[in-house]
Amino acid sequence: MAVSTEQLGGQPESRYLISDLCELLETYLEPEQVREVYRAYLFAAEAHEGQHRLTGEPYIYHPIAAARILAEMHMDADSIVAAILHDVIEDTPTAKAQVATEFGSEVAELVDGVSKLTQIRFESQAEAQAENFRKMMLAMVKDIRVILVKLADRLHNMRTLGVMRPEKRRRIARETLEIYAPIANRLGMNQVRLELEDLGFTALYPLRSRVLRESVRRARGNRKEILSKIETAIKRRLRQEEVEGRVLSREKHLYSLYQKMRGRGLSFSEVLDVYAFRIIVDKVDTCYRALGVVHNLYKPVPGRFKDYIAIPKANGYQSLHTVLFGPYGVPIEVQIRTEEMDQVAEAGIAAHWLYKSGEDSANSAQVRARNWLRGLLEMQRSAGNSLEFLENVKIDLFPDEVYVFTPRGDIMELPRGATAVDFAYAVHTDVGNSCIAAKIDRRLAPLRTPLVNGQTVEIITAPGAHPNPAWLAFVVTGKARAGIRHHLKHLQGAEAVELGRRLLNKALVTLGSSLEQLPADRMEGFLRAHQLDGEGPLLSDIGLGNRMPLLVARELLGLGASEGAPAEPGAGRLARPLAIKGTEGMVVSFARCCRPIPGDPIVGFVSTGRGIVIHVENCKNVADFRNRPEKWVDVEWEPEVEGEFPAEIRVEVANRRGVLATVATAIAEAGSNIENVSIEERDGMNTSILFTINVQGRIHLARVMRRIRRISVVHRISRQRS
Ligand code: MN
Repeated sequence: MAVSTEQLGGQPESRYLISDLCELLETYLEPEQVREVYRAYLFAAEAHEGQHRLTGEPYIYHPIAAARILAEMHMDADSIVAAILHDVIEDTPTAKAQVATEFGSEVAELVDGVSKLTQIRFESQAEAQAENFRKMMLAMVKDIRVILVKLADRLHNMRTLGVMRPEKRRRIARETLEIYAPIANRLGMNQVRLELEDLGFTALYPLRSRVLRESVRRARGNRKEILSKIETAIKRRLRQEEVEGRVLSREKHLYSLYQKMRGRGLSFSEVLDVYAFRIIVDKVDTCYRALGVVHNLYKPVPGRFKDYIAIPKANGYQSLHTVLFGPYGVPIEVQIRTEEMDQVAEAGIAAHWLYKSGEDSANSAQVRARNWLRGLLEMQRSAGNSLEFLENVKIDLFPDEVYVFTPRGDIMELPRGATAVDFAYAVHTDVGNSCIAAKIDRRLAPLRTPLVNGQTVEIITAPGAHPNPAWLAFVVTGKARAGIRHHLKHLQGAEAVELGRRLLNKALVTLGSSLEQLPADRMEGFLRAHQLDGEGPLLSDIGLGNRMPLLVARELLGLGASEGAPAEPGAGRLARPLAIKGTEGMVVSFARCCRPIPGDPIVGFVSTGRGIVIHVENCKNVADFRNRPEKWVDVEWEPEVEGEFPAEIRVEVANRRGVLATVATAIAEAGSNIENVSIEERDGMNTSILFTINVQGRIHLARVMRRIRRISVVHRISRQRS
């Protein structure tokens, strides 16, 4: 395998020279600490005297390279010394005791820990593997630096893997992908993780990685122009709004592309046709302002906004994520975070040594890693055997998967971010197609709820319910996506017929008849007269708003289609209102101007080709229809409406640090998702924030608003209607 100098990070030789290492160490360590490292070098060089690596180089090159990886993360002197000595106990007769006398017991413990990890092989039977894994975790718990030195060791071995025999290469690559990369990820060490993954992927799947790399290279040419166009637009708009920050475009890594294609069943163009940017700013408030700016520049994709600042990931990662509709309809992924969050995102737990400042903060990667390891210890005490322990740790270590249970106790494995709808489709396509709600741990939950490890999920289905096109915005599995798309193709027709039947019947009832009572020859005559090919096309036409149900009903009953022309207000109204369930699908839609939610008084209008559009009764746009009563449809909410509906709330707050995060957290705690945020600075003192959130209805909305009102810096909160 060819390792490019790019992957080695510059001049290959320089990373093997002790003088260069010391030069780097002098930038952040005390002179006597650097001298100690040099002494360790002399000790190790002597111990490895005459040994060579498979590459033909003197063995000592390897520990120096590992130490350099740690030095680049500004790790402390003990870790650097331990890295230089890391193969001394294992590969040479030099005993642990001797290292302890020469360099102190702390270094000796580190070297010993790394040696023990090095002896562990993760290729054997599950039981042996589990036992080894347990040992590894215990070593980490003793001193987290053990695993950092081990990761540096592994990283350098992966960089020089090409010289190994193919089968050993594959074993090490698999172990790297299955054990070490996930651990680096769990510790938030993104840079190390990405390099381990790409090297592991290349070694384990040489052919696939070559094809993928080549496709990426070819696609890059086509993307360049759009990429720089978007970048320029974002930079210009940030400048206009006086938001200071760096804008970087991001390249996706090979292995994550590969996993996306496999896990979500996406095609190459689907995974690659994403333009990814990162905006790095000075402080938290600026993050939310930058979010407002990009949401104003390009329309955000509903349901894709994630606030990892208010609610950080388990490894301490913080950022705002959003997806935008870019030019030519290309999706743009944007991450927004502060410099400090960026450091934590790239270096994770190692950022602790890089920036001593974050030590006390409850969110520091260091503290989170400690808590995680403490949890593992408890888990290992309660787990019956090491196999059970491994199963538990896996849940923790592979955050890309969630494990949930069916009500019968069967375990289902889904990709991270999978929702109740994904679960429903995983059970069976029919279950997915007719699901209307979910019970998660026996409590009702919206279908878009992302699932969490260990939950028991029960899907509630209803005959006649259909997949909702809005689901496509949040499902993550290929099966759910395919199921919804397939159904939707056939659906619009069927939905329109069903709605048309209900509307026509209601119109007939209003005129003292009904579809049932209508003589068959009347219908046949009508179809002939209008050259319609059967009842289906007529009902579908009515459902889609192309024909007025009352006019059709009058003609069917021989009352004359257009007599009594100027219909008095309400003439188009039906005897009893049409009940809105929220599951009608595409033929019933909710107006964006007033965003009706269950509980609001509503009125429907027939819109040609689109079916019925629901407005709130006092919506301004309702006035436009005042003189067109034939378009009105009386509607009311079903008593039990399922699903979630977007609502807009305006929150006026004092300009305080972190206030946006506080409000966002409150919304999340009240069980609502944020679809969108936009921010208007009122004056130096106050800011007005417009949230689009998803609620189940008026009662839920009231609960969210009550929760926000309790925040002391919130001056005013109101539901917004344009
Ligand atoms: Mn080594």
